[in-house]
Amino acid sequence: MKEANSILTGYGTTIFTVMSALAVEHNAINLGQGFPDTDGPLDILTEAMLATKNQSNQYPPMMGIPELRQAAAAHSKIFYDIDLDWESQTIVTSGATEAIAACLFGLIEPGDEVVLIEPLYDCYLPIVRRAGAIPKLVRIAPPDWDLPYEELEAAFSEKTKLILLNTPTNPAAKVYTIEELEFIAGLIKKHDAYAICDEVYEHLVYDGRQHVPLITLPGMAERCIRISSAGKTFSMTGWKVGYSVGAAKLINAVSKAHQFLTFTTPPNLQKAVAFGLKKDMDYFKGLRGEMESKRDRLSKGLASIGFEVMDSQGTYFLAADFRPLGFDCDDVKFCKDLTKDSGVAAVPFSAFYQAGTDSGVNHFVRFCYCKQDHIIDTALERLSDYFNRI
Ligand code: PMP
Ligand code: GLN
Repeated sequence: MKEANSILTGYGTTIFTVMSALAVEHNAINLGQGFPDTDGPLDILTEAMLATKNQSNQYPPMMGIPELRQAAAAHSKIFYDIDLDWESQTIVTSGATEAIAACLFGLIEPGDEVVLIEPLYDCYLPIVRRAGAIPKLVRIAPPDWDLPYEELEAAFSEKTKLILLNTPTNPAAKVYTIEELEFIAGLIKKHDAYAICDEVYEHLVYDGRQHVPLITLPGMAERCIRISSAGKTFSMTGWKVGYSVGAAKLINAVSKAHQFLTFTTPPNLQKAVAFGLKKDMDYFKGLRGEMESKRDRLSKGLASIGFEVMDSQGTYFLAADFRPLGFDCDDVKFCKDLTKDSGVAAVPFSAFYQAGTDSGVNHFVRFCYCKQDHIIDTALERLSDYFNRI
């Protein structure tokens, strides 16, 4: 029998699914896979319900419903002063994941090089490779996760088609500085490349930091696609409504892939997300403030238990080093034991590096803090009991 595709079958089941299944099996609190344990705003849920009942549930337009595309353009204008023509410069996709795949399939020619920064979100490498591109990996390292300028420069060549940039970044919880973004923009211009900018955590940046989309830097409007997702902005990760904005030429290329991948996205959810994007500033500030206080709650608790906790500048996540607790096993064993024996699940950091390479950070775990305060407190109690016991 002929084999299935070797690139994709070479990957196991995603770490999020593996750890969530283990959490269920052991009745553990799931601080692994990144999803809130309460749903987002009731008015957005109600809007989806009303749209389901009162509007057509047949195929909406391939590019997305005008209302959501207009709302996405307006949102980028309000928050970042980006001027967009909604008809040629916006597209709705089924989650940011589909947007990433459609961008890569739409832009890559087999043999192109794609620059990526490790640790990275798990779907990037498989899709880049399946699209026929050659990944060029650069690493940021703890505790500061600073961008190594020389290594990044060396990763670019005349074959570079694009860089896939994620800020705020999962799992390192780093928010790229303006200087770093300027450096990246310089390389993009020098090498006539593009950037796919995964900005799903755009509203989750803390301590007074600002999210700066790369597309707002000089010369970047023609070269960047900015991707966001309702999953993170409205705490409905199951909805899988994403959108991308950028130069008409790039969005057109994305649409050529999107039309053959999913073609469209549920109309009721698009309608509700359009409603959500029109919320006033208080909503977005509230979301950020709430998540920042959860970050503080979990960071402080883990530090008092004995973890060395890295700074979490944004996202749902924080990275913690478990060596100060006296463990020298690898991160996968640590996370599996933790889930079974303490009743708290987390994700091993090595999952965010190219498989088969030494990440150099085999003693880190990623904890997710977008959970109710009493759940965070119970998780901390369980962890404290566990480390006192062993
Ligand atoms: N990018 C990053 C960095 C993520 O953490 C996630 C996880 N939600 C996604 C993309 C996927 O977003 P969506 O669920 O909208 O497909
Ligand atoms: N983005 C989520 C995380 O990083 C997981 C999404 C998924 O399970 N595919 O935890």
